This record gives sequence, structure tokens and C-alpha cells, in this order.
Amino acid sequence: MPSPFENLLPRYDAVVIGAGLGGMTAANNLAKFGRKVLLLEHHYQLGGLATFFKRPKGHIFDISLHGFPYGMIKSTRRYWTPEISQRIHQLKDVRFINPDFEVKTTFDRQDFTRILQERFRLPAETVEAFFSHLREMNYYDNDPRTTRELFEQFFPGRPDVQRLLLEPIAYANGSTLDDPAITFGIVFSNFMSKGVFIFQGGTDTMIQLMTAEMKANGVDIRRNVLVEKVIIEKDTSGQRRVVGVKLRGTRLGEEAEVACATVVSNANIKDTILKLSDTSSFDPNFIQQAQAVRVNTSSCQVYMGVREGESIPPIGDLVFTSEAKPFSSRELVDFHTTSRTYSVYYPDTRPHTRTPRNAVVTSINQRWEDWAHLNEEDYQKHKARIIEESLQGLEKYIPDIRQKVDYLEAATPRTVQRYVRHWGGTSFGTKFEGLKVSMALPEQVGGFFHAGSVGIIMSGWLGTINYGVIVSAKADAYLRNPSAGPLGDAQASQSL
Ligand SMILES: Cc1cc2nc3c(=O)[nH]c(=O)nc-3n(C[C@H](O)[C@H](O)[C@H](O)COP(=O)(O)OP(=O)(O)OC[C@H]3O[C@@H](n4cnc5c(N)ncnc54)[C@H](O)[C@@H]3O)c2cc1C
Repeated sequence: MPSPFENLLPRYDAVVIGAGLGGMTAANNLAKFGRKVLLLEHHYQLGGLATFFKRPKGHIFDISLHGFPYGMIKSTRRYWTPEISQRIHQLKDVRFINPDFEVKTTFDRQDFTRILQERFRLPAETVEAFFSHLREMNYYDNDPRTTRELFEQFFPGRPDVQRLLLEPIAYANGSTLDDPAITFGIVFSNFMSKGVFIFQGGTDTMIQLMTAEMKANGVDIRRNVLVEKVIIEKDTSGQRRVVGVKLRGTRLGEEAEVACATVVSNANIKDTILKLSDTSSFDPNFIQQAQAVRVNTSSCQVYMGVREGESIPPIGDLVFTSEAKPFSSRELVDFHTTSRTYSVYYPDTRPHTRTPRNAVVTSINQRWEDWAHLNEEDYQKHKARIIEESLQGLEKYIPDIRQKVDYLEAATPRTVQRYVRHWGGTSFGTKFEGLKVSMALPEQVGGFFHAGSVGIIMSGWLGTINYGVIVSAKADAYLRNPSAGPLGDAQASQSL
């Protein structure tokens, strides 16, 4: 087996830790700027949470290909390739089925306006005022209101409306009624602009195209390499700067060190500061801020592979189901939640495959704490339980699903943690305060940047790609003038 360190350069302009969408986008952009870039991924596969896996009998499952906003078309066209962008298409059939309502929608502003007026009997002025208000919400306003307060302002005493608005966003980024209203406002508005989109060809095709593009731009990609430490030293003026990374091969355990001028970490921000770095390299109050950052919740998933030659009826593309009444953010992540989303993959997801298949992936928001400490027997028992509950839930819409399915598997917060190493197995990065810490990192240590899911806003496929773009521009500016960059960032992040 060739060493993952074969022919490494002694020094790179930029080392990118982690090949999630944020890391890959930053690496690709820096390479396009003409920088020598080393992209390191501890797993054998690229993509991070935006990934897939294959199983016997021709099954292939996507982890996080459920839906993203229209903005992905523009971001992938500008920062990746037209081919990637052209494969993005809209999901037309989003459904909500719960004790409060059953709704079928294209999940865009026009259709939501209709539903809110006709089905929920809200006055047109209220609906219009709500959308206008969201459009005007500004990240720099420092508005302390929570989503709960925002909803109470526009839809007082209407838990059904609040459920319709929040439930899909809670699945998209783990947000709750108690998070800042801006986090709901930005993400919901992004979706409302034109609806929910998906990548045709599956995540495997997208990652393949992205990998080819990175290679064409000269990114040096190494898999099975864990970054164990970021090496930070003081320069002659006393300024702390990154100077390299310590690496370990995950297959044979071989070790190496590589010198670099900048590091962009796509690992979770808490892991980046509190585990991958020597904490004495930061101001103590910055460490306190990093410690105080709350991570978002994690996920369970159930993957159901439909037997070759079998079909399933069109029950919707994305089906949000719940038996909870009333809706609550707490029930949504409860160990025994009844809330789950079914992503239904019809044969047109991967039309290019020899025998295009049907698959269903159930996503359930869960807390790390509920799964982390189960002993092996209980762990297996609860994995079997979520598979059974998912099947029972789906039987309401596809009564003979058990006969159609010939492959079943469950993933838990532990799976997420093992695969991407994130603190608390978080699926959606950190709460709002994580963004400030992420942006302030280069003020603490010259050349040290973070591009990964933070602050709810910079999360999800679109958020992390966009954040990767922003951070790569900052890293490039630092490479041009190592004395100027971090101070500019300090001023920018003071206003957050
Ligand atoms: C179940 C689930 C469903 C989701 N559904 C959607 C959805 O429908 N739409 C949407 O937009 N988003 C969805 N998301 C969220 C979305 O997938 C993530 O926000 C996004 O992919 C995260 O990208 P990222 O750049 O932050 O990095 P990640 O994907 O988290 O990747 C980080 C990478 O860094 C690597 N790494 C970490 N530490 C090290 C180290 N020390 N050395 C080397 N490598 C390291 C990891 O292995 C990983 O590859 C979902 C997430 C989950 C879990």
C-alpha cells in the first residue's frame, strides 16, 4: 500500500484540514489563486458529511442530499464548474404530515403565501409583512430577538403556523425556537427564494466532479491522513503564526510533519481550537469563548434499499412526518421522537446507473448525549428500534414497504462522530456564537483560518461552500501580506 505521504512537498502555501464542502471549496479556490495547496482528509473518502456509501446488491445511499436552497446553482457555477451547477434541480413535492396539518408544497414563497392564506387563514397583509421583514433582516443588526419572539410578533397563538415554518429548518440546520431569529430568517429566506434543490447524479457524482476539478487546479489531495496538531510559533515580532502541521496515516500509523504558511481547518471549530491546537497559543479569554460555543444536535438515519426491479409509489420527495402535538423543538430531538423526515430517492436521482434504484433515507435529529454512553447491547437494541420505527412510519404511506426493501441499516450520532470526528457528533456545526469565534481565529494566530459549519448560517451545503469561498479569499490576502490580514479581520469581527 503506497504511503499517503509519498512525494509530499516540504512546504505548502496552504494546508486544508478536512475535505468537507467547506474544506474542498477553500482548497480549490486557493489553488485557483495559484497557491500550492495540500488537502488532508482522515477518511478514505472525500466529502465529509456530503458523502455517500455503497452496499451489496447495488445499493447506494446519500447522507445529506436532502435539499438545499437555489443559491447552490450560483455558488457551484462561480466557484466550481458549470457541469456541477447544471445538475442541480428542484424538488417539486415536499410534504408535511402531522397532527396539526397535511400540506403538499413546492416550498417557495409563492406557494407558502398561498398555503398560509388559504390553509392557515392568515390575512394577506400579515403574510406579506412577515416575508418583507425576513428580507430586511440583516446579519449586522445585532438583533437579540429569538425565533420564538419573531413568530409571536407575526403569528401569536398559532403553534400550527410556527410548526410549518420551523420544522423544515430544524431539519436543515438544527435550529430551535430559542436560537436568534436571524438564523431562521436567513436560512428560511434562502429556501423561499425558489424552493428546495437537489443534485442529480447523487453525491458520488458530485464529489467525483469536484475531485477532478481540484486535481485539475493542482490541489495535492491526500486521504487517510489525520492532522494531529497545528504547529504554531511566535515570529521575531512576537506574533503567533501557523508554521506547519503534524500528520498521521490512519492505515499504518506513519507520521510526518509539513511546513506551511496558512492552515484552513474544516474540522469543527471547537476541535480546531481545543484539540488540534496547543491552547496556550491563544489568549485565555478566546479559549473561554471557544469552550462556551454550543454545538448543534446530531442525527440518526435509517437507510432503506429497495430491491432491484421493485418500484415505490410517488409519496413525495421530502416527507416531514411527526406524531407530536404540539410541535416542540425538544420533542424533535428526543431519544424517542416521533418526528422523522423521509427522503425518497426515485430512479431519476441516478439515471446514469445500470439499473437505477429506489431508496428511502429517514433522518431523525438526535442528541449526542443520548447515544454516546450506551453499552454495546443497548446500542444495537436502539439501532434496531429506530429501523423498526422508521419502517412502521413509512408503512402508513407505502403499506408493503417491508416486502420491497432488501437492505436496511442505521447510523447514529456515534457514526457521525466516527466518520467526521466532530465534537458531539454534530451534524450542523455550532450555534450562532461559533461564527464569531471562527472568524476571530486569524486574529489570534496569523495564517490560521476556519471554514466549516458554524453559527447555523454558515452551515448546510450552501452555507459551507460560501464560507469556504470567503475564507479562501482571506487566506489568500494573508499570503499576499502576512502583516495586514489578521488586523483587518479583527475589525470586521468586532461588529459581529
Ligand atoms: C444526516 C444529515 C443530513 C443533512 N442534510 C442536509 C441537507 O439536506 N441539506 C444541507 O444543505 N445540509 C445538510 N446537512 C448538513 C451538511 O451536510 C453539512 O452542513 C455540510 O456538509 C458540512 O460541511 P463542512 O464543510 O462543515 O464539513 P464536514 O462535512 O463536516 O467535513 C469536515 C471534514 O473534515 C474532516 N476532518 C475532521 N478532522 C480532521 C482531522 N483532524 N484530520 C483530517 N481530516 C479531518 C472530516 O473527516 C470531514 O471530511 C446534513 C447533515 C447530516 C449529518
